[in-house]
Amino acid sequence: MNIIDLRSDTVTLPTKEMHEAISNAELGDDVFQEDPTVNRLEKLAAEKFNKEAAIFLPSGTMANLVAVLTHCQRGDEVILGDQSHTFLYEAGGISSFGGVHSRQLKNHDDGTMSIEDIKSAIRKKDVHFPPSRLICLENTHNRCLGMPLDINYINDVADIARNNNMSVHIDGARIFNAAVATGSSVSDLTKEVESVSFCLSKGLSAPSGSLLCGESSFIQRARFNRKALGGGMRQAGILAAAGIVALNVMSKKIVQDHQNAKKLADGISKIDGINLELEKTKTNIIYFMLDHPKVNSSALLEFMEKKNIRFFELAPNWFRLVTHSGISNESIDYVVNEFDHFFAKA
Ligand SMILES: *Cc1c(COP(=O)(O)O)cnc(C)c1O
Repeated sequence: MNIIDLRSDTVTLPTKEMHEAISNAELGDDVFQEDPTVNRLEKLAAEKFNKEAAIFLPSGTMANLVAVLTHCQRGDEVILGDQSHTFLYEAGGISSFGGVHSRQLKNHDDGTMSIEDIKSAIRKKDVHFPPSRLICLENTHNRCLGMPLDINYINDVADIARNNNMSVHIDGARIFNAAVATGSSVSDLTKEVESVSFCLSKGLSAPSGSLLCGESSFIQRARFNRKALGGGMRQAGILAAAGIVALNVMSKKIVQDHQNAKKLADGISKIDGINLELEKTKTNIIYFMLDHPKVNSSALLEFMEKKNIRFFELAPNWFRLVTHSGISNESIDYVVNEFDHFFAKA
């Protein structure tokens, strides 16, 4: 039996259509911008996000790093959430490689930073202060229950940035999930911001790669920063070919991942011993607390591993389940059943 891997949507494997696209891909040297497949992917991404240009990068981490390096000078300050991926999980690259100072504001459960907090974090011009240059948002917000940010909030933040001569970058690793959850298109969600990055290798199932979209002059400077970081790839059309399928085909399937997540959350939320806020499962990420007098985390994880169900404990008694294209509707029934069995015996 196959493993039902609910650890992350990064475990998705390329589809059959991607394998075919990869073997038929036209290739060239992308550092010379001569890989026709990469060029097609970058054009497609720019069109989808209604931005002037896009650049293909090896990972989401590098896409965010290149974005911050391109927006900021050394010594500039970036405002970001204290639960944001860039702050928590990107090895501190913006400070070690960019010399960029980070100002972390509290992320609320819905993935936002409060508008008041943002306004008061923006610094006056003063010899004592690093210049406030950039605000980073994350959509959907991974650590904040996979919550989507809606268009009104994003536009409010963009307004503040504009009024203060700052820019906004969106870490949209899962922005296609945000689009499905909010009913706004990815281009509407990013219309008022200067740049957006997104991952092809999560819900969209491509093997690797991210894109960064923005104005042509911004993307030109990003190309320089990508090269400096060692992210200039040669015949990257091999990867981009799968990315084109990800954008054209897989982005339309995200809705199923959300339905599966809802069904899974619904199913296990009924169990005594599981605390889960159902109304907060809005995308493909489910968080729950284990709260049972006789059951501990390792017993739960061991039982599930024996049943070929895999997921993480992120913090004591705090778990995450992620649905994706590798998880079928039938698998959800099976997982809910096994949760029922486990707690029935407890
Ligand atoms: C996964 C992720 C990234 C980084 O992407 P990698 O391709 O794993 O480097 C950035 N931001 C968020 C919100 C993510 O979930």
